[in-house]
Amino acid sequence: MHRVLNTIVYILLLLSIAPIAEAKDFVIVIDPGHGGKDAGALGMRTNEKSINLNVALKLKRMLERDMDDVKVLMTRDSDRFIPLQKRADFANRKHADIFISIHANSISSKSPAHRRINGAAVYTLGLDRSDTNLSVAMRENEVMKLESDYSTTYEGFDPSSTESYIAFEMMQHKNMD
Ligand SMILES: [Zn+2]
Repeated sequence: MHRVLNTIVYILLLLSIAPIAEAKDFVIVIDPGHGGKDAGALGMRTNEKSINLNVALKLKRMLERDMDDVKVLMTRDSDRFIPLQKRADFANRKHADIFISIHANSISSKSPAHRRINGAAVYTLGLDRSDTNLSVAMRENEVMKLESDYSTTYEGFDPSSTESYIAFEMMQHKNMD
């Protein structure tokens, strides 16, 4: 857990240099993944949505304690379901300088690596060509299907189709700049 937090805070420090020079509040939106009817990955004793929320709350406390020129906002601070688009809308409405979506991964107990796996992974916006990145994005975005009107909201984006991600990546370049 500590390694996850250390990695995230380190990245924040790197990205915060330019906006602070402009003497404006740096807005950080923390997004605890999943929530409510969407539990995320399931463990023996807990589930992903609870871990994500607790890590997010802890990260918020650390940032507010250690960085007095940042404003920290959360997409959720309780156990409730928020559609993916609403999370992005919230960050855009608040003019977020950085959006951090926190997730916890799982591995099947049948996998031989089950007892050895640990550590943290950090993904930045943009899908590179690696199959791992793509499969993580596809798995996480399956949550769209829990929304009754997902094909309207996401304008035909199909979370299980590779072609959708190719089109999506092209659209993303505009926002990444
Ligand atoms: Zn997740």
